[in-house]
Amino acid sequence: MEKNIFEKIRDEEAQSSIVYKDEYVTAFLDIDPSAPVHILLIPNKKIESLNDIKEEDSIYLSKLLLTAKNLAKKHNISESGYRLITNCNKDGGQEIPYLHFHLV
Ligand code: 5GP
Repeated sequence: MEKNIFEKIRDEEAQSSIVYKDEYVTAFLDIDPSAPVHILLIPNKKIESLNDIKEEDSIYLSKLLLTAKNLAKKHNISESGYRLITNCNKDGGQEIPYLHFHLV
């Protein structure tokens, strides 16, 4: 099955500005930012949406939240504030079928 764009970014087969990567999480700049800081965070395991998370995925989700907190600090928005958003399916506004969180 062909990889979607976030799988290609995760595997560094498509161009993107990756700002953080470890065993569990990849974070990169949104191509069409809606705020001065707009970072997308994905688990390195392909999960289509929040509907598809399983108990065994909890390590990916906790690492993702910790990474969001750390990136907010690194980008100097911890104190001023930020939102962490995930869109789920069509009515939730999800365009890319790979679980991701917007840090904005
Ligand atoms: P969604 O609507 O699925 O929650 O968010 C998808 C996000 O991915 C959008 O904010 C969009 O700008 C971003 N996006 C779509 N294609 C690309 C791409 O090729 N590279 C990057 N860096 N972001 C993308």
